[in-house]
Amino acid sequence: MQYRILGKTGLRVSAVGFGGIPIQRIDAAGTRALMERLAEKGVNFIDTARGYTVSESYLGEALSGGLRGRFILATKSMSRDYEGMARDIETSLANLKTDFIDLYQLHNIKSDADFELAFSEHGAMAAILDAVKAGKVRHFGATAHSVRSLERLLTYPQVETIMLPYNIVETQGEALMARAAEQGVGVIAMKPMAGGNITDGALAIRFILQNPNCTVAIPGMAALKEIDENTAAAESAAPLTPDEQAACDAVRAELSGNFCRRCGYCAPCTVGIDIPSTFTMESYVKRYGLAEWGRQRYLSLPAKASACISCGKCETRCPYELPIREKLREAARTFGEIE
Ligand code: SF4
Ligand code: SF4
Repeated sequence: MQYRILGKTGLRVSAVGFGGIPIQRIDAAGTRALMERLAEKGVNFIDTARGYTVSESYLGEALSGGLRGRFILATKSMSRDYEGMARDIETSLANLKTDFIDLYQLHNIKSDADFELAFSEHGAMAAILDAVKAGKVRHFGATAHSVRSLERLLTYPQVETIMLPYNIVETQGEALMARAAEQGVGVIAMKPMAGGNITDGALAIRFILQNPNCTVAIPGMAALKEIDENTAAAESAAPLTPDEQAACDAVRAELSGNFCRRCGYCAPCTVGIDIPSTFTMESYVKRYGLAEWGRQRYLSLPAKASACISCGKCETRCPYELPIREKLREAARTFGEIE
């Protein structure tokens, strides 16, 4: 296993970590088996979230009784105000059955209103920094999907880590990752398999780890076999071979015509549809095996795919020329809004 320093946190993390979303698909006993295999393979970074339903509590059970000390634990919350975040930190500590959490993150920060509240004097960041002072949390980070939000995060010196989607197909954050590394901000790559679209996990991991500005990639893993494959891919730091590069090009060619990178450039939609989130929720239903979770999240979106009036404005702004209207009709079918 390769190890890298997570920016100014100084934490030495394995280049492959563990993304906690799929734990929702298994159970507490299965989680324990995964944790044991991770420890055996030298993986020492686990990321989860308040929003991943049972993930924190299954992890807490699995790690109690000796394994907690083997891992750097990261979690995150969608709360933007002080009270909500302070409450969520206490809940995470209880769920994870630990006295401290290594990294607490603002989860999926995106709108101007999000930033203004979260980074205000009485916002979520202040709650996390107070928890750091109290010894309940060690470090502060944030996660986002769009380059614009990530750029804004880098303007706050308190942010020690950022998490962003990064994989063979979603490379729009590369310049930003370089800037983060220069500023000493640790970079965590989420969605290394592009939401299940990339099926060659070893290639996906090899591609990400070639980038020295990426500190740790966090594939979601629900099976021991996936842990074995992904950690084996992190054994070698050798450059990608010509064959591997050709395989990456083939993945790009296959997916690039119809794949949402969640960059957000298509916004604003005329009727308020959150286009990238709609496609993400659809992926959870179709590819992640998290149908119920994806449907629940989709229900919380204010405007649904079927509300599209086909004005076409979003398509003129999509740098990847995606057929957004057609894809939204497909999403509306997936969510049962139209036949
Ligand atoms: S085509 Fe549909 S999704 Fe795109 S901006 Fe118009 S209403 Fe929104
Ligand atoms: S639809 Fe296009 S512009 Fe909108 S988030 Fe996806 S890739 Fe970006």
